[in-house]
Amino acid sequence: MKRSASSTKGASKRQKVSSATSTRNQDKEKETLEWPEYFQDLFKIFKALNTVLAFVSSHRHIATTFPMIRSSAEGLLKRPLELSKVAELKALLPDVVEFAYIPRSDLRIHGETVSQQNKRSNSPNFMLHPQSLAIDTPLGYRLPGHEEEEHVLVLEFAENFRTPKSGNLVDKRNQRFKDAVVELMKATPEGEVSTDLLQAAARDHIPVNPSAKKALLANESQNLIIPEPEDRPSIDNILLEIQKQQWYKNQIVDRRTFKEKVAIEGLLAEPLSHTIQQALRESRNITSLYYHQAAAINAIVQRKHVIVSTSTASGKSVIYQVPLLKFLEENSNATAILIYPTKALAQDQRTALEQLLCACPGLQHIKVATYDGDTPQDHRRTIRETASVIFTNFDMLHASILPHEELWRTFIKNIKLVAVDELHYYSNLFGSHVAQIIRRFRRICAAVGNQRVVFVSCSATISKPSQHMKRLFGVEDVEEIVEDGAPSGKKDYLVWDPFNVKDMDSGVAKLGQSGPTWEAINLMIFLMIRGVRVILFCKIRRACELAMKALRQRLSAEGRLDVLAKVMPYRGGYSQEDRRRIEYEAFSGHLLGIVATNALELGVDIGVLDAVIMLGFPFGIANFRQQAGRAGRRSRDSLAVLVAEDLPIDRNYVKFPDKLYNQPMDDLTVDIESKVVIEAHLQCAAHEMPLSKDDAFYFGASLGELCDSKLRKDKDGWYHPHPKFLPYPAKHISIRGADDDKYTVIDVTKVGLPRIIEEIELSRAIFELYEGGVFMHQGLTFVVKEVSHDTKVARLVRADVNWITKPRDYTQVLPRYIIHHLDWTNRNVDAMQTHRIKEIARSPHKAYFGSEWIISGTITMFIARTGVDVTTVVFGFRKIRCVWTLADILSISKSLFRGNKVLDVVDVDTPPYERQVTGLWFDVPKDLLGLLKEKHFNLAEAIHSASHAWMNRFALSPDLRTECKAAEKEYNKEESQRKRPARLILYDASRKGSVSAQAFDHSGEVLQQAHDMVETCSCKDGCDKCIHSATCSEGNVVASKMGALLILKALLNLDIDADSVATQFGSQGSETIVEATYIRPLDGVQVEPA
Ligand SMILES: [Zn+2]
Ligand SMILES: [Zn+2]
Repeated sequence: MKRSASSTKGASKRQKVSSATSTRNQDKEKETLEWPEYFQDLFKIFKALNTVLAFVSSHRHIATTFPMIRSSAEGLLKRPLELSKVAELKALLPDVVEFAYIPRSDLRIHGETVSQQNKRSNSPNFMLHPQSLAIDTPLGYRLPGHEEEEHVLVLEFAENFRTPKSGNLVDKRNQRFKDAVVELMKATPEGEVSTDLLQAAARDHIPVNPSAKKALLANESQNLIIPEPEDRPSIDNILLEIQKQQWYKNQIVDRRTFKEKVAIEGLLAEPLSHTIQQALRESRNITSLYYHQAAAINAIVQRKHVIVSTSTASGKSVIYQVPLLKFLEENSNATAILIYPTKALAQDQRTALEQLLCACPGLQHIKVATYDGDTPQDHRRTIRETASVIFTNFDMLHASILPHEELWRTFIKNIKLVAVDELHYYSNLFGSHVAQIIRRFRRICAAVGNQRVVFVSCSATISKPSQHMKRLFGVEDVEEIVEDGAPSGKKDYLVWDPFNVKDMDSGVAKLGQSGPTWEAINLMIFLMIRGVRVILFCKIRRACELAMKALRQRLSAEGRLDVLAKVMPYRGGYSQEDRRRIEYEAFSGHLLGIVATNALELGVDIGVLDAVIMLGFPFGIANFRQQAGRAGRRSRDSLAVLVAEDLPIDRNYVKFPDKLYNQPMDDLTVDIESKVVIEAHLQCAAHEMPLSKDDAFYFGASLGELCDSKLRKDKDGWYHPHPKFLPYPAKHISIRGADDDKYTVIDVTKVGLPRIIEEIELSRAIFELYEGGVFMHQGLTFVVKEVSHDTKVARLVRADVNWITKPRDYTQVLPRYIIHHLDWTNRNVDAMQTHRIKEIARSPHKAYFGSEWIISGTITMFIARTGVDVTTVVFGFRKIRCVWTLADILSISKSLFRGNKVLDVVDVDTPPYERQVTGLWFDVPKDLLGLLKEKHFNLAEAIHSASHAWMNRFALSPDLRTECKAAEKEYNKEESQRKRPARLILYDASRKGSVSAQAFDHSGEVLQQAHDMVETCSCKDGCDKCIHSATCSEGNVVASKMGALLILKALLNLDIDADSVATQFGSQGSETIVEATYIRPLDGVQVEPA
């Protein structure tokens, strides 16, 4: 190992100090003789460091950076000192050993105060690696979320720590070491080896350099080389190697190998012009077309609508680009609209088309433009007047292009082709809106005399593609192309069942060295260091952050900062700038690993990946296949691994892995009969051009009734928007759901240089941002310093802490140091006053509408306390340090896992956040409550699932919220203080919202639809068609399909055969739900008929 040259001057002095202390300690040494040799050796190291630090602290002008301490200690020990050993000391004596990275500026502050007595403020000892300052990062880029500032590793021993003994500082510290070893040996459970536990715990104490790229230099001597992707071993060999690892315990429960596939070429009915051939050859190196490409182009040229549903990366964009060039060659006035679900994707595709046009003689002058929400107003006119092709999205078509059709008339008249990429994105509620937008668009095209627009769609592999396209576009005669002519490499699929540690009373297991997250990360690291590019998909944001944090710790502990520098997390909530940068890094091949939520599932081309790891079964088979499809292309072999979590749906696939491959995909659903959605778009359509009853051709049979009841008719019989939607109906309809109020999260670590790192929705902010809490961003921990609910701003500082708050996954994801735990009992959503009451058809029960009250706040943190100090250490910023010894942790985890004592409680002084909203609710009938209890249903599961089932059937529910139930609360064995009423509550996401009033109007029919869906859904324990919600803030963990069905049946007054209802296998927690009490209506409220 390479060491920085260090002062020899200090070393000679140190000898003296050293011999003095060792004489004094000789007697006490005897008692350590019974220790395992390992601890005796560790003690030698501790004593050497103790000596060096004692010397240094008496000469305070020398800052105690680790490299400097290390070389002196090595001088005493006469052998190299490993970082991991210091981490073990830190794990053993957390209140004595201070071992962390701090910003270099803080060190300088430290130095400057000292320099008042001493002139050596510019001593090279103040730097970690003096030469590293001059050298720029070898990778030429910077990880987002990392401070620009350099950090240095500081090693210090505390002077004040708990100790009953008197004596000099060096002796006191040595004594503390001995005590700690004895405590640890005592606390070690039977069958465990205390040194193993210490080594395992030490991993978490390896300090992570927040500016990892700089630390790369510290690593260069290790000669660790990641193979270039081209030179990586084959997946076959890697899988063989995995099975020889000591941690491999038959986790692979299923393996399928899909053979390599050769390309199938297709022929065009009429050959392309020489110019187009030249463009394809020059810009893409394309000289022949795959079967599906040729088939699609043939159909489009004959003016047929086309849907192509083939694998990822099968060259789908060529399908509409080639006909587009052909149309432009035939008529230079031709125009086209290309639609993508995200801006990033539109950007990628625009660049690709520009290159193609540029290489096509005669078409170089053609203008293409992006037209999205970011397009400045003053550019929009130029684009309308000069561009031939626009790259846009449905939001713009809905809110900007169609409402201004008169400005776009020339463009619309000349449209030859509309391509909608990633068609599978448009389903469910968003798809229902899009279907109506397309109908509005077709109507305007027809009105300006353009009857020949060709619609082209591309999608991932979906079920019944042409049926989906027909419903979405409202067109017949769709040519469906599903035969994939693109070649593909060999692909292996694994189902990986993490080693079950549940019944194993292992200390190592409790320290978090097991479980799905740990195994997924283990696998990811194993692949990355062999040059395999991996994406790890997590289901929720928090899992993504935890996985990234664990990756940082593991890779730092193993000294693989070179790998760490090539891993990035990617999820919603990050700033646009960070996201673009990560996409760019991934695409340009700089990254080896990405940890992502499904925000990356579609869209942006992130280049070639070799392996996909899914941490937990994603929502639905289609998602599973799309995520798996992210890996592998052309001639390379690839791998997709499903790491099963401890959830019913995952266990099901572990048992029956065939289903992953054989089970048909769910049909994409688009509700084109939803009167709520149709009415909304009729208001828009009528504004674009007055409606007549003939427009039922586009909008369906309900048009007449809706026009008569909801629109305004003029004397000539034309329908116009209802005045309440004027002057701009499109503004009243949000097609992707209302935006929640957002909190801005600012990193204020660097004084005077605040940086916005995230924006998070109010519904999350309440529980993720509270003073003193830990917030995770890109796997780094921050402590929340200040939250203002008035300005919706949270200020955070970087702090390396070994704990997290909100242990929602604590039994499976992080059985690590569970010291923190939020009390959720004080979040409360409940009905307050009844304004309207409505009958449910054929049922004695009612739907209610009125005001609801949301109170959240007064968060309590539980801190397990045995020798835990919560202190404030000032290193230029506030840092909360929470320390405990390994022996403490073992006893804490025992007591936590056996659930018998809370060790300490700290109240966080957060003012309660209250707001009043409008919403609707259904009370669970009393008789049913009795039955559910008798059969041991968990009421929270049933209510939560029934609420989601209802929302899944209501077209505008993205604008609604329900109270999502959290596992850590519902499955808590301890009796909860606050009971909640047995009530399905749905409320407006936005305070300005009025969707809940519409929801109330349709409450009964939606209830019936929800019931029918849950009853007929073919899934076993619930899926995203019936009771799961993709937007559930608690990941749908608390769910019961049967419970939901019974509630829906009871509300609809349908027969329930109590005898046939199976008794559930014991509810997991103490009951949190009680019968709902009647909410008093306002005076004079009449019950409305169903
Ligand atoms: Zn289902
Ligand atoms: Zn939920």
